[in-house]
Amino acid sequence: MYLDLTSIKNDKNVVLEFAEKINLETLGEGFGNFTSDKPFLITGTVQNTNDGFYLKGRITGEVHTNCSLCLSNIELKVDLFVERLYKLVADEDSYALVDFKINLDELVFEETVLNLPLKPVCHHDCKGLCPVCGENLNERECSCSHEEIDIRLLPLKQLLEKQKGV
Ligand SMILES: [Zn+2]
Ligand SMILES: [Zn+2]
Repeated sequence: MYLDLTSIKNDKNVVLEFAEKINLETLGEGFGNFTSDKPFLITGTVQNTNDGFYLKGRITGEVHTNCSLCLSNIELKVDLFVERLYKLVADEDSYALVDFKINLDELVFEETVLNLPLKPVCHHDCKGLCPVCGENLNERECSCSHEEIDIRLLPLKQLLEKQKGV
């Protein structure tokens, strides 16, 4: 989906409003463990300024993924604001504008991916899976021993046990 700026390319006083549905699932590759089955919505304005074409917008949608701790399916809401400057010749503060068209698929994809959590969780205090039996500890307590061993302290523990002759 391209946003065509031809209508404002010679007019610095006009603000172009837009609202488009973007299907992210068609982008597939690079979206990692996140999937999306409903279109995203991007709404906003573009203004032709002395610096370039200034886009201000809001992206909303939802993605599905798995909790990084207990692996249950979760849905995350995406709701973010974006500001970008487009220029015919891009510099480090701006994006390139080709044929006076903005690629909205790319924009929504890039901004969404940037804002997705690296370790999504179903709940801020998700108990995760039992490392011994794999039980989802949010649903049930298992009978495994959950002696917590800090892996960084493991060499020290082994050393102490050696000294004690265990
Ligand atoms: Zn979880
Ligand atoms: Zn267990």
